[in-house]
Amino acid sequence: MKIGNAVGIMKEENGEYNMRFQSFLIKYAEIGIKGKNRYLFEDALVKQIRRAVKQVEGTFEVSKAMGRIYVNAVSEYDYDELIEALQCVFGIVHICPVVQIPDKGFDDLSENIVRYMDEMYPDKNLTFKVECRRSRKNYPLNSQEMNRELGGRILDAFTQMRVDVHHPQVMLKVEVREQFINIYSLEIPGPGGMPIGTNGKAMLLLSGGIDSPVAGYMIAKRGVFLDATYFHAPPYTSERAKQKVVDLAKLVAKYSGPIRLHIVNFTDIQLYIYDKCPHDELTIIMRRYMMRIAEEIAKETGALGLVTGESIGQVASQTMQSLAATNEVCTMPVFRPVIGFDKQEIVEVAEKIGTFETSIQPFEDCCTIFVAKHPVTKPNVNVIRASEKKLEEKIDEMVKTAIETAEVVLCEA
Ligand code: ATP
Ligand code: MG
Repeated sequence: MKIGNAVGIMKEENGEYNMRFQSFLIKYAEIGIKGKNRYLFEDALVKQIRRAVKQVEGTFEVSKAMGRIYVNAVSEYDYDELIEALQCVFGIVHICPVVQIPDKGFDDLSENIVRYMDEMYPDKNLTFKVECRRSRKNYPLNSQEMNRELGGRILDAFTQMRVDVHHPQVMLKVEVREQFINIYSLEIPGPGGMPIGTNGKAMLLLSGGIDSPVAGYMIAKRGVFLDATYFHAPPYTSERAKQKVVDLAKLVAKYSGPIRLHIVNFTDIQLYIYDKCPHDELTIIMRRYMMRIAEEIAKETGALGLVTGESIGQVASQTMQSLAATNEVCTMPVFRPVIGFDKQEIVEVAEKIGTFETSIQPFEDCCTIFVAKHPVTKPNVNVIRASEKKLEEKIDEMVKTAIETAEVVLCEA
């Protein structure tokens, strides 16, 4: 169904319809956010919406009014860019471009409704339903009467239109609020989830692969603020590989807000492990040191958990035994949101959130260089601990240095 021009606030440009809505009603899920939580949720959402609209050309006011959040454009702006930015804000369930009119009586409302339908839907061959709600109960008509009366006026104006109360193509919503009346029929899906900042902070182990950016996205979606750590092994891994991780962090930051990426130089530790330990155990031992170091940095930054892109059975280092051996060194909870995903399912999310193309650039991250031909797939933790004993002389000092010399890059969208 073609959507066209609406109610004097959109204009035609180059023969195309150009949306000119000034107000956007932001809908969010309310389950579990009663009482004090609700107010924290809404404030966090408003803050994240303000952050998102800053990236969009134009000036916007974001306001909270009686359980509703509105984004109002107060200058010229790019509609598509605004919608795209809002679709990255976790917590938003629907974005509704609304026409707001003052209450000048029912006849005036009816005229506006007819005009809205006319300009919004150039092709009048459609079914619709009117759904009115009143938060101001002293409005002269009740909701049922309004539905009937407004539906009738639309039918009178456009003989091609038909009412379908069960599966309407257009659900026209009319809300009588204290100060104004909202008219809308578009509900553009948002990303869902919880606003960033409502659920503490976690440390993402971010590599240049496909999985960890997706894992970061999924945890951020639950309202968790992200920090990230990347283990870099120059000259075995290139500057390009590092840049790729920075680029990925910036892409995730579109959703999560700014990410402080800690870039740890891992070369000396890797070489030392390579020198001292059996080569079939290299990957597991390296991964244990990655977790230990990420956890130390997490403690410093106030993060309460680690996040990885591990998925059971994907590679030798992700068998149950390997995951158990890696996990053993952590005292913080380790969140693995893609643990039960097939690769293809992870790829689908990566494509949806826009990280896939960057992830598949061919610059290797540090693991691949030191991978043994036949890594252990069922490591025995006691054996691994015994191997790590061989590192005793220098490893603590090396870990300390790696943490102290980590470079921090602020990654913003
Ligand atoms: P990804 O696609 O996320 O790189 P992967 O399939 O390549 O994952 P591994 O290399 O075994 O799997 O890594 C498993 C997880 O360990 C990654 O998802 C990531 O969270 C973390 N990780 C691996 N290498 C690094 C690195 N160089 N820096 C930071 N984290 C890493
Ligand atoms: Mg990887």
